[in-house]
Amino acid sequence: MGVIVVGAGIAGVTCAGELAARGVDVVVLERARGVGGRLAVHRHDGRPADIGAAYFTVSDQEFDTRVRQWRRDGLVREWTDTLAVFEGTTRIGDSSGPMRWAAPGGLPSLVTESARDVTVRTGCEVGEIRPGPDGRPRVDGEPCDAVVLAMPDPQAARLLDPHTAAGAVVADREWDPILALTIGFARRGWPELPAAFVNDHPVLASVADDGDRRGDRAPVLVAHSTGALARAHEAAPEAAVTTMTAAVGRLLGTAAEPEWTHQHHWPYAAPRERRDRSFHLDDDGIGLAGDGWGRSRVQTAWLSGLRLGRELAGRLGG
Ligand SMILES: Cc1cc2nc3c(=O)[nH]c(=O)nc-3n(C[C@H](O)[C@H](O)[C@H](O)COP(=O)(O)OP(=O)(O)OC[C@H]3O[C@@H](n4cnc5c(N)ncnc54)[C@H](O)[C@@H]3O)c2cc1C
Repeated sequence: MGVIVVGAGIAGVTCAGELAARGVDVVVLERARGVGGRLAVHRHDGRPADIGAAYFTVSDQEFDTRVRQWRRDGLVREWTDTLAVFEGTTRIGDSSGPMRWAAPGGLPSLVTESARDVTVRTGCEVGEIRPGPDGRPRVDGEPCDAVVLAMPDPQAARLLDPHTAAGAVVADREWDPILALTIGFARRGWPELPAAFVNDHPVLASVADDGDRRGDRAPVLVAHSTGALARAHEAAPEAAVTTMTAAVGRLLGTAAEPEWTHQHHWPYAAPRERRDRSFHLDDDGIGLAGDGWGRSRVQTAWLSGLRLGRELAGRLGG
């Protein structure tokens, strides 16, 4: 076997795509039923709402080139550069920043597109990765030329021996959880705002208008909790649904009862500390990529996968 990439998030499929483009034999193993990882949607009556990353921003030249291609392909659109800001429950103004990009079909569509020329096996959970005596790593006992773990550090740590180079790099790295609550209403009934940052709030960190984000004006909001709320409800996340629903209603001044809600628990939403390298790769052929390698962002994960793919292809003669 050539290279095995574990994890079909944006980092893993980008890494695999780069390897494949350089003629390296590569396969991606993903434990979930589909690709995307933390670029994820919940579908209600067939309509997707983004429940992982809310949007992405672009500051890197190479990522910009990729995003322009996605736009030409009709996969992404410019959403907004201005978000509302709340301090507690008070709207204190707006914050202008970089353009936030959204995907009308949901952000996982970018991963599906990036995986087009790559072999991905879904429903394949990897259990153990070890360095081999011949310098080739073993993935669940199977030798390969190299392996890439493209996932949050705590998930990678479960697969690695902490005494190996990669195992030591991911050991004891803390990541924060988030609860994502999607709320569907009968009709739109809140002040116009594409999305809001919510500061100093015990329950909410952000709220996005998914109808505005997707461009179909559907009456759907997606709220992200604070890390503290998610940690407090680790054992029973569903107990936070009522609290979050009420907090969103109070924040946006809507008394309307939701028609439906859906909650998702992200145990490893974002790393607590960032690194200043793009990836890890040691002589034992075990590599690490993902958004833990920089500021936790879609662009970071994409760049991490791309750069590790390039480095590996160079080493393997691709
Ligand atoms: C709630 C939330 C909000 C966010 N908001 C933003 C935002 O607004 N803007 C932004 O830029 N970024 C945002 N992010 C961050 C962004 O989603 C991530 O940076 C990016 O998606 C990370 O991609 P990745 O490929 O590194 O990891 P992931 O997407 O986590 O992919 C890892 C994959 O590995 C798989 N896997 C794990 N263990 C195994 C195993 N043993 N065997 C096989 N497969 C395995 C997982 O199933 C998963 O598919 C947000 C994230 C969350 C959770």
